[in-house]
Amino acid sequence: MCGVIGVSGVPDAARIAYLGLYALQHRGQESAGIVALGGDGQARVVRGMGLVSEVFDQAALDSLPGTTAVGHTRYSTAGSSVLANAQPQLVSYQHGPLTLAHNGNLVNAMALKARLVEEGSIFSTSSDSEVLIHLIARSKQPTPEGQIREALEAVEGAYSIVLSVGREVYAAVDGRGFRPLVLGQLGGGVVVTSETCALDLVGATVLRELQPGDFVRLVDGRVEPLAPLGRRPVSRCVFELVYFARPDSTVFGESVDRVRRELGRELAREHPAPGADVVFSVPDSANAMALGFADVSGIKLEHGLIRNHYVGRTFINPTQALRVAKVKIKFNPVREVIAGKAVVVVDDSLVRGTTSKGLVQMIRAAGAREVHLRLGSPPITGPCHYGIDTPTRQELIAATHSVEEIRTYLGVDSLGYLGLEGMLRAAGPRNAWCHACFSGAYPTPETDDIARRLRTAPLAEAPA
Ligand code: AMP
Repeated sequence: MCGVIGVSGVPDAARIAYLGLYALQHRGQESAGIVALGGDGQARVVRGMGLVSEVFDQAALDSLPGTTAVGHTRYSTAGSSVLANAQPQLVSYQHGPLTLAHNGNLVNAMALKARLVEEGSIFSTSSDSEVLIHLIARSKQPTPEGQIREALEAVEGAYSIVLSVGREVYAAVDGRGFRPLVLGQLGGGVVVTSETCALDLVGATVLRELQPGDFVRLVDGRVEPLAPLGRRPVSRCVFELVYFARPDSTVFGESVDRVRRELGRELAREHPAPGADVVFSVPDSANAMALGFADVSGIKLEHGLIRNHYVGRTFINPTQALRVAKVKIKFNPVREVIAGKAVVVVDDSLVRGTTSKGLVQMIRAAGAREVHLRLGSPPITGPCHYGIDTPTRQELIAATHSVEEIRTYLGVDSLGYLGLEGMLRAAGPRNAWCHACFSGAYPTPETDDIARRLRTAPLAEAPA
């Protein structure tokens, strides 16, 4: 997953992009970058591996003058975690410097890339996004707008994308609208970014969210709507609301906080834990869910786990070894709250089961009498092809194990997953949702890229 931002018509645009990226840090922690377009027509770029705070310092920002900027934070879902794949990508193009920042994942990139390579294209990254750059550069359309449109119409999958050509910024959302993108007003300028929390931080006011198929150009702080891209049946990613987006954001017209509370309420109705003494969340993404659970169940809400905020999101680190070690670094139980009690632990989701297994051991070691785990979303049984890092079925514990097997593996007294219907009710009636990772109902055609990802090795053995 990634966070993107584009700034147009704002003095010192790179500083605004930098602040915005801070608010989008949760969307990707592997690399960060900003391209700024100076009054001299020059594009300058600073990109690096690591957090926004690690990549940028005063000197880096001073080296990025101009009133237009594009920024990106990344974690890899396609392509490996190396500097070459860090975005924004910057290339020189017939109409000036071209910059691209992509959130989402394309599902026909490999096939397109193979064709482009056969025809002589040379790629410098292993990310799916570079395909778009080649398609734009090779398009015979006479204008940048036409070339970008042609490229976007040729790709399949998820993109919420910010591009710049010279000082013009283009923003687009694929026809199904998997990922969010929102426009904001900042003084005489305009900002386009993944989540409203980034607009809040830079002091911009929300203009509107881009809808599926929306395509706009930002010129010196003005928003010019362009003819929409081909619309498809809308399928907003429900996992943005369950886990990914920040609770202080509004995504797809819904308050993330409100939806998460509602998920917790639904969960308490579906899987109550009668007789439990306390309920607490696995912080932070499940905080609001535990609130909702406490609300409906009447069980006392406590802080039972303390999170070390100076560690990145465990799951985001792409190797398994790192993930396991990080559970302990990240959480510690509060003995006072837990000892001798029957506890309900609320988390948003179970992916590989590694975090929960470690947490349950810790909670038991802190003296819990009973541990009841409640999850604010259904079992994840398939990988996401549209930008969330759940690469293969094999790694998903619920793809190969029953709820009872998972309960035994985790060592909990009871385990309750929210059902699909309850989750969608909580997400609200305003949108149609992509819930493929839970239901197997993938909204795009099954491309070769998807077939390759779905092909799993023999079923994984029961986790030890
Ligand atoms: P796991 O230990 O693999 O079961 O991961 C579950 C934990 O990771 C939960 O606490 C979730 O909050 C979090 N999580 C779920 N999905 C993701 C994701 N796509 N990226 C990062 N973290 C996630």
